[in-house]
Amino acid sequence: MEVTASRETLKVDDCSDPNSRGIKRSANLSIDVCQKQCKEEKDETGPTCTKRQSSTSVNSQQNKLRLRKVAYVWNEEMGEVCDLLPRVPQREYVDFLEFLNDEDDSEKEQERKEEFGMNHDCPSVPRIFDVAKSVTAASLRGVQALVSNECQVAINWTGGWHHGRRDEAAGFCYMNDVVISLLQLTQTYKRVLYIDLDLHHGDAVQDAFAHTPKVMTVSFHKHSPGFYPGSGNVDDVGHGRGRYYSVNLPLQDGMTDVLFFSLFKGVLMKVQKIYQPSVVVIQCGADTLVGDHMNCFNLTPSGIANCVNYILHWNIPMLLLGGGGYNTPNTARCWTLLTAVAVGVRLNSEIPDHEFFLDYGPDYQLEISPSNRQNLNTKQYLSKIVPTIFNNLDQLKPVSKEK
Ligand SMILES: [Zn+2]
Repeated sequence: MEVTASRETLKVDDCSDPNSRGIKRSANLSIDVCQKQCKEEKDETGPTCTKRQSSTSVNSQQNKLRLRKVAYVWNEEMGEVCDLLPRVPQREYVDFLEFLNDEDDSEKEQERKEEFGMNHDCPSVPRIFDVAKSVTAASLRGVQALVSNECQVAINWTGGWHHGRRDEAAGFCYMNDVVISLLQLTQTYKRVLYIDLDLHHGDAVQDAFAHTPKVMTVSFHKHSPGFYPGSGNVDDVGHGRGRYYSVNLPLQDGMTDVLFFSLFKGVLMKVQKIYQPSVVVIQCGADTLVGDHMNCFNLTPSGIANCVNYILHWNIPMLLLGGGGYNTPNTARCWTLLTAVAVGVRLNSEIPDHEFFLDYGPDYQLEISPSNRQNLNTKQYLSKIVPTIFNNLDQLKPVSKEK
């Protein structure tokens, strides 16, 4: 692939810094807008990594020229944007987070912590408010970059806290930057599509918009008894005017790249046809990857990249957010690859030497291989859910193109 960077190069290697994951990274955000002029593959679903590309003749690809601006949100000052936050989280909860910010006595205020969900998987940590507001502000800055047409794709890998409630923390999420960003997008765009690729159901995002057709939510996730958060079954479709605008694909262990993309493409093609979204937000949780500590799905970064690449070809503004991902090097591999796909460059398979290089052993490659575990998403299982989803979508009146 031929690439000409018109101004500055996006530092995709930064994404492979495992120290940049989670809370540590969240405290250090900045914005870097880069512009690349690139030739992209004609095949929308084509190979997304250099290993696969090496078997493809570059000369044989009939590429088309496209200019895509990508904003990578990474700026300390962005925390200030938080002052402009819509007051979505309940003020009392936000005030409590702020109170805890400089509190280093973990035993204090136990009762109130319980009240606001700050226990077990959402412990109070020093500077928690700074972290939560920086993450949210970064996602909002991404929204701002899209709305003002600074870019076509905005990325905040620290975002995607899809379980956070307006008045309590939940599932490692203290403030729901996704809901706040989607709300902000509805101010400008008529139809907002939210796609959740995390292993866990995007429960709080769905609940926030279950009553409105302004935001359609589509979540692909594991669903089985006792698995967090427990919602997101196929008959979970929204309410009132929002009925059938919540779409859920409850899946089983062992999901593969090929099957996942096939389901993704099938459902999203229909969603696009019926809903004609004017902007899209994708939560790219990486806990679906093979080797993740959740040990459920069997996906690789290329599989997830194919999904994102498919939506990129819709050519509508896109906000890419992070999410779960508990195998740090693999999560970094995934988000690095997704960044490259968004920018339109191909990366070398070799992980470059850097401070955390040894974490990428033993092969030090960008790609990872799936395991040979059994895929429990059998034809028989899928035949129970897929037709129902299509049937539900058929209940919606298609949006006419002019609207
Ligand atoms: Zn998750």
